[in-house]
Amino acid sequence: MKYFSLSHNAPEVSFQEAVVRGLAPDKGLYFPKEIHKLPDAFYEAIETLDYVTIAFEAIKQFVGEDIPESDLKAILKNVLSFDFPIVELENNIAALELYHGPTMAFKDVGARFMARCLGYFNKKKNNTDDVTVLVATSGDTGGAVANGFLGVKGVEVVILYPSGKVSDIQEKQLTTLGQNITAFEVQGAFDDCQAMVKQAFLDEDFKGKRTLTSANSINIARWLPQMFYYFIAYKALKHKGKKLVFSVPSGNYGNICAGMMAQKLGLPIDHFITGTNANNVVPEYLKTGKYTTKSSVPTISNAMDVGAPSNFIRIEELHNHDFDILKKNLSGSSYSDSETIDAINYLNDTYNYVADPHGAIGYMALKDYLTANNHAQGVFLETAHPIKFLPVMPKAIADKMPIPTQIESILHLEKKRILISNYEQLKQQLLK
Ligand SMILES: *Cc1c(COP(=O)(O)O)cnc(C)c1O
Repeated sequence: MKYFSLSHNAPEVSFQEAVVRGLAPDKGLYFPKEIHKLPDAFYEAIETLDYVTIAFEAIKQFVGEDIPESDLKAILKNVLSFDFPIVELENNIAALELYHGPTMAFKDVGARFMARCLGYFNKKKNNTDDVTVLVATSGDTGGAVANGFLGVKGVEVVILYPSGKVSDIQEKQLTTLGQNITAFEVQGAFDDCQAMVKQAFLDEDFKGKRTLTSANSINIARWLPQMFYYFIAYKALKHKGKKLVFSVPSGNYGNICAGMMAQKLGLPIDHFITGTNANNVVPEYLKTGKYTTKSSVPTISNAMDVGAPSNFIRIEELHNHDFDILKKNLSGSSYSDSETIDAINYLNDTYNYVADPHGAIGYMALKDYLTANNHAQGVFLETAHPIKFLPVMPKAIADKMPIPTQIESILHLEKKRILISNYEQLKQQLLK
């Protein structure tokens, strides 16, 4: 499989090169040249297939010859070593829980897949040119990447996070692992962390000293495995025989865009809904037809505080850059922090279900859509465990939440990080 740049000014590359590079040299996102539907027989038999087989069928055309089938299966088996349960709340509303992995956020799957692919490529080649994965995080990405890449040979991971803006649990997930993981605590906001990462990628002084790559959802190896969730939900709900709609709490739009890729592979999805917080670029676009990026504003669902969603260009590509086609397939609404808290309380009081702030937005967006489309089966994606957002959860709920074992096991570990306040300090550390 070949990948081209969505900026159309860079050579086509293989899966391996697209993964190692992250972004094309013309700064465009990579996109697969061809997309083939999966055979009817696959969808007919899906209820009898296990996660690894489903994932393998979904992703093999995108990997192509760069990883032989038996190695790819082994990677997937290792990546998908936890459950993705569907929890039915109402007759036509179900939560798909994507947070049962090691760092309890859906980003575990993409981060683990990308790490194992890079690890595989490094093992294959003899001249071990180490890769440095540089990533800015508002909380969830850093933890998933740190955990996914821990101990992977030939890869060093550098994580930048904004001081005082991630929860204690998230900070522990970033700063306690050691080995090939280094965390930098930045005096500033998430946007400052991201600006430093961008500056490093453009900095000629790293040439020949460090090969930098990114591990956010612009990387195809982090983006594409997110397709699996939609196949897994379909497998669980197919017997109901209803039209399936997915509501996805969105920030950079990698997750929902992977769902749209699954749809291109023939997965029968009727419609997508994007729920956002006050960072509402895409719902505004769907309403007005005008696409206007903004600086991000902070909210309690901070993994979605994104003012310029990087994967939106891929969504446009999947819909032929045609606004009317997109509007038929995607609707969206945005919600305030106080509405989000109300929804968390409502879900807890009504169903004894504890949602995190991101999942609660997915629930609200789904509920609003279903009032006018009540024949569909709705699924909202629960993207993180609520324990990771303890400081912003309603106190009565937070106080009685048990601590999961994945979290318990890191709480006593000592946090190790390097404090920095500007780009020069970061550069100095990286060139040491
Ligand atoms: C990253 C994240 C999101 C947003 O996902 P995108 O793919 O960036 O749209 C939503 N919820 C949680 C908990 C996240 O960590």
